[in-house]
Amino acid sequence: MATRLYTHPLFLEHLTSPGHPERPDRLRAIAKVLAHDVFDPLDRVEAPIADEAALLLAHPETYVRRIREEIPAEGLERVDADTVVSPRSWDAALAAVGAANAAIDDVFAGRADNVFVAARPPGHHAEKNRAMGFCLFNNAAIAARHAQKTHGAERVAIVDWDVHHGNGTQDIFWDDPSVLYCSTHQMPLYPGTGKASETGAGNIVNVPLSPGSDGETFQQALESIILPRIEEFRPDLIIISAGFDAHYRDPLAELNFTERDFAWATAKLMDCAGRWSSNRLVSLLEGGYDLEGLGLSVAAHVGRLMKG
Ligand SMILES: [Zn+2]
Repeated sequence: MATRLYTHPLFLEHLTSPGHPERPDRLRAIAKVLAHDVFDPLDRVEAPIADEAALLLAHPETYVRRIREEIPAEGLERVDADTVVSPRSWDAALAAVGAANAAIDDVFAGRADNVFVAARPPGHHAEKNRAMGFCLFNNAAIAARHAQKTHGAERVAIVDWDVHHGNGTQDIFWDDPSVLYCSTHQMPLYPGTGKASETGAGNIVNVPLSPGSDGETFQQALESIILPRIEEFRPDLIIISAGFDAHYRDPLAELNFTERDFAWATAKLMDCAGRWSSNRLVSLLEGGYDLEGLGLSVAAHVGRLMKG
């Protein structure tokens, strides 16, 4: 079996304002590195477009309708201080959710060992009822619920190494012990949540890192806190909220990870998936705003996924 990669041309058509860090060039940078020969074995699939009903796995209908009504016929519209939508953003968001759910279907059907979804808009800041931080719908949360509803997964672990705390994912699973949410993130930093004391129903594991922390600190956080919790939880599925903005080149934060740290963490989570979830692992792109740092990080991450 191979590593599967989902992308879609629609992800380039979700437009944000000039100078906005979450921009289509991010996906062009990823496409460029993954065009290299070493990635030829990737099983490349165009993302299916999700039905609107999939959004209801993590968001109420009133919220879904509100976002749909915000989509402009032309130009740009702001749905939150940082979150901008354009005419194709609705379809792009449905393709991002469609890709995440298809990736879940693939690992449960044995069509792939693991899957990387290169999609935008990202998802981990989207709360049940609130778009924020460049995110409209919470792709990882919807995918986790889809795995539970459609494939009978009992316990899903979501590991979020984006430099920002995934307040949306935490919000959605705050009182749901069937999902373990583990996050490393810089603190203080946007969105301000993610203290170690925020533990939900005992299923939320936040490991805030000080500005300037390097990959060694990240590896220690995983080894000493997060991996033991995953082992104890025995997940049927691991989802990675794979943001690469903790890379030292990234302009939005002050952590100093390298692409090798992301490869290391990928390998560790693949080990967990091998022990507990028949290798089922789905990785969803979140942040990462320096195009070179993002390209190097995705190459290291996907390269490690492909080693199986
Ligand atoms: Zn981020």
